[in-house]
Amino acid sequence: MNSEDQVRWSLSKDGEYSVKSFFTNSMNANIASPVVDKIWAQIWRLKLIPKIHLFIWKCLSNSLPTNSRIRSVISSMNGNCPHCLHIEETLQHLLLDCPYAKAVWLSSPYAIAHQNSNQLTVVEWIKEWFLPNNPWPAYFPNSSIVTVILSWYIWKSRCKKVFDDDCPNPSQTSHEAIIMIENQIRVLYDLSPQPHSRTNSNSPAFWRPPSSQFLKLNIDASFISSSDHAGIGILIRDNASKFKAAKCIQLRTGSSEQAEGLAILATVEWAKELKLSKGSFESDAQNLINFINHGIGHLKWRSKTILVDCKSLTPAFESVGFVYTPREANRPADLLARAARNSRTMTSLWMRMDV
Ligand SMILES: [Zn+2]
Repeated sequence: MNSEDQVRWSLSKDGEYSVKSFFTNSMNANIASPVVDKIWAQIWRLKLIPKIHLFIWKCLSNSLPTNSRIRSVISSMNGNCPHCLHIEETLQHLLLDCPYAKAVWLSSPYAIAHQNSNQLTVVEWIKEWFLPNNPWPAYFPNSSIVTVILSWYIWKSRCKKVFDDDCPNPSQTSHEAIIMIENQIRVLYDLSPQPHSRTNSNSPAFWRPPSSQFLKLNIDASFISSSDHAGIGILIRDNASKFKAAKCIQLRTGSSEQAEGLAILATVEWAKELKLSKGSFESDAQNLINFINHGIGHLKWRSKTILVDCKSLTPAFESVGFVYTPREANRPADLLARAARNSRTMTSLWMRMDV
């Protein structure tokens, strides 16, 4: 009885804090409902790593151990945001209101996900990701994958800041999330093949505008072995889907793969010439995009050299991403590339004055 008072974690028998005790307690407190069951079924349908499933479950059951949540159990804890220091770290702050989170959303092509949170609580916003009648635009068919992964990366970076005192900058976090999103979309559709229809409304074959600060550059090459000439087509649009510029280039090259690589290189060089600061480069040459993003894949050495040249130009930009897009979403660039291959002139260019 003479011992001093000690801080004890009330949700476990031994008084020690653990995520498991937090999880179990919140699970018992959470009342099941048909809507929650439906959402949970949707979450499980996404082929995500278990850590991400758990993260979403914790968000929905208000058991994610944000500083504010921990302070509600241990009053001596600091409940503030590790980025903002003087503002309480609630789930709402973590994913939506924190300047760090806003910067991650805005550095991605999916800023619309953040905008859709207006007038909603954070839990209502998360539930909306999984509801079939959500108000998301048709060009955003994988909203649940995008929102889940971007939110998880915001949380992951925040944990790095808290536990390692090291936090990636928002555009780096956004870039890593985008790579995972693209891979996830590919895995999802590979697991659910639709061999007879690539234009099904569930397919990812929609062109999506970039976020307001980015321009999207769609790229394609056209090559046939019986012809001397290959063509490159480049189309630049903004987030209002407005045309900004287009270019057709004719060239001689040895293979389709090389033509696609030269198309990406020509686009990066052109973007640099135009002094664009933020760009999303989209090509349907999946092997080449994978090589740029991960440095892996079976490519000819000549193609690899071209892509290494592309990478070496990226420090000239504030933020760039290389994204695979299905051919169906890249048709205008494909048409330009074919026109370039068949053209009598070497290069054609169309520009709006304000690019
Ligand atoms: Zn903050």
